[in-house]
Amino acid sequence: MKPVLRWPLHPAPKEGEALSSWLHRVAACYQMDGRDLLENDLGHGQVNDLDSAPPLSLLTALSQRSGIELDRLRGMTLAGWVPWLLDSLDDRLSSALETYAFQFSVLLPKRNRKTRSITSWRAWLPGQSIHRACPFCLNDPANQAVLLAWKLPLMLSCPLHGCWLESYWGVPGRFLGWENTDAAPRMASAAIAAMDRRTWQALTMGYVELPRRRIHAGLWFRLLRTLLDELNTPLSQCGTCAGKIRSVWERCGHPLRAGQSLWRPYEILDPVVQLQMLEAAATAIDLIESKVLSPRGEQAALFLAEPQTGFTNSLTAVERKKEPINYWQQAVQAINEAVAEARHNPETARSLFALASYGRRNPESLERLRVTFAKEGIPSEFLSHYQPD
Ligand SMILES: [Zn+2]
Repeated sequence: MKPVLRWPLHPAPKEGEALSSWLHRVAACYQMDGRDLLENDLGHGQVNDLDSAPPLSLLTALSQRSGIELDRLRGMTLAGWVPWLLDSLDDRLSSALETYAFQFSVLLPKRNRKTRSITSWRAWLPGQSIHRACPFCLNDPANQAVLLAWKLPLMLSCPLHGCWLESYWGVPGRFLGWENTDAAPRMASAAIAAMDRRTWQALTMGYVELPRRRIHAGLWFRLLRTLLDELNTPLSQCGTCAGKIRSVWERCGHPLRAGQSLWRPYEILDPVVQLQMLEAAATAIDLIESKVLSPRGEQAALFLAEPQTGFTNSLTAVERKKEPINYWQQAVQAINEAVAEARHNPETARSLFALASYGRRNPESLERLRVTFAKEGIPSEFLSHYQPD
């Protein structure tokens, strides 16, 4: 039996990294191109679908070379995200779109939506390849990982840094350039960051915490895709809900339906249009949660906390007033509000960090706190100038 050769060098995959990105980074350790590594070392020359459904024989070889489990490698491809993110990679299912995007409703009652059926459709897979990434994440040349989710029209911002994804060219591990070389990283709005944090939670945890309850990742992706289609519904079909659709577009500052007059599925729209649609979806969710908008769709209530109606106790109104104030609950609420503010306000971020790091002198302990802040969606560059007293 031939002994299995391990690669002496292979960087660990990042959470959510695309298989192609990781392979390019491995190849860069040997001053090679990803394709050369596949062909010369593994004998897989013609692999065009590395990030969608690579052959099992290739995944097995990669697992043997790296010692990384097969399941983990498969999770770096779209095939590993079936059936949560998409029902199937097979585009011959005639009712795929109907099943995915028309069984739920958020902004419009179901009766207002004309069910569409098209052939050759797969959820989220774009008509043309997308090259967008986080400028902060790719700043370190030794650590350039491109996430699989960034290759889909699914997110607008980086889940770790909260800034807009920007267009790039090149491959990870080799030289990467930005399309707009002068552009400084732009912070995404709170509404966009909130939507993308949920998508990231769905991808990494398998569930999303919504105000009403925790939902399965599969439901989150379908709700998001439903919203995108509802926002692209001709107003003439929206009946009395037309005003709601119009107000979302007005609020996010883009033309109605991102300038579309003919209906086409989201996946094949121009990338610029897709980004505007995603922005409108984030705006719609924000408007629902802040109760500016009360949509009539069945699943809209998921974005609202459980109403406290029907709750009575035997205390009189005067006695109820005397109920002890729950200072702890108030403190938790104040902290949550401060964290939300710190995501887009550097000063609040620094104040909050100063408060949380009070008494911490140990650099490791401060580093752990920085990681916690980053996980909460507070951009680390807000704290880059912060020095403990
Ligand atoms: Zn980032």
